[in-house]
Amino acid sequence: MQVPEGSEVRNVIIIGSGPAGYTAGVYTARAGLKPLLFEGSVTAGGALMNTTEVENFPGFPDGIMGPDLMDGLRKQAERFGAELVTDDIIEAQLDGPVKRVVDGNGDEHFAKTVIIATGSGYRELGLADEKRLSGHGVSWCATCDGFFFREKEIVVVGGGDTALEEATFLTRFGESVTVVHRRSELRASKIMQERAFANPKISFAWNSEVSAILGEDRVTGLRLRDTVTGDERDLKADGLFIAIGHEPRSDLFAGQIDLDDEGYVKVDAPSTRTNLEGVFACGDVVDHVYRQAITAAGTGCSAALDAERFLAAQE
Ligand code: FAD
Repeated sequence: MQVPEGSEVRNVIIIGSGPAGYTAGVYTARAGLKPLLFEGSVTAGGALMNTTEVENFPGFPDGIMGPDLMDGLRKQAERFGAELVTDDIIEAQLDGPVKRVVDGNGDEHFAKTVIIATGSGYRELGLADEKRLSGHGVSWCATCDGFFFREKEIVVVGGGDTALEEATFLTRFGESVTVVHRRSELRASKIMQERAFANPKISFAWNSEVSAILGEDRVTGLRLRDTVTGDERDLKADGLFIAIGHEPRSDLFAGQIDLDDEGYVKVDAPSTRTNLEGVFACGDVVDHVYRQAITAAGTGCSAALDAERFLAAQE
């Protein structure tokens, strides 16, 4: 890699500003590594910017609003000297001892290590009111939000293992759980299906898709369209959990970084090392199992420590 004259080679560049990226920022900054952290241009602060109350992040006994939590993490990273840039990385060349990334303005940046913390997106239904009612009855995470739906009527959309796992978990809280699925049979594994069929709280709306989410300030119901006849009917619901898949934001690294079949970055667990020396990955771009703010923050910390040790070994 030819570094243009006058260009600085940083110790660490962090790509992503969710709990994983900011935590990596806090740790690398406190270690005196002066990280350069790209927050992204549209969703700086990550997935929790789109939610209301977070009740399960340790240390906040009364809960905390998602954007407030992220604002706190951001300030904490800045306080120790992380340099934050609210821009996307649109190109990355990660092999060799010096890594090169290009931001949305076309400016190049160089570093000895890169921490990938780009997260994953939840697949959406694409309905007009989905975003508006996110955090007000619409959710993508049963572990995060199930607790808010005690004795309520819940709908889960999807037909795979995740959907049935979420539905089964949600029966701990809800009065009823209806699984809405486009087809007449599920994709989920047999064991998950058997578990769901045996659960008296779970019922199924087969050959159905959600055509509208009803409610002004909160979800009050759903309009379902029959995928065979086209007929529509309304279903009362307090909560809608969308479980139709996730998309790790790893496209930028494909061809350089080893990804699994679903596009998640592969790491040499329990470390955060990728297949490329000096490149580490953390948070939901790696994790398709736990997908929590605290686990993302935890692996962000691990990535920072891995980068720090890697740099120390170079000296
Ligand atoms: P993210 O938070 O997704 O952050 C990724 C960041 O990378 C984003 O800032 C994005 O802008 C940036 N980025 C991506 N590509 C680029 C690029 N090319 N250049 C620069 N930046 C880039 N978890 C809980 O523990 N409790 C909850 O209550 C909870 N509620 C949730 C509610 C909702 C609505 C959602 C969507 C998720 C919720 N989660 C909750 C899950 C939690 O938000 C995620 O597990 C966590 O945010 C993952 O952190 P991350 O840092 O890996 O990724």
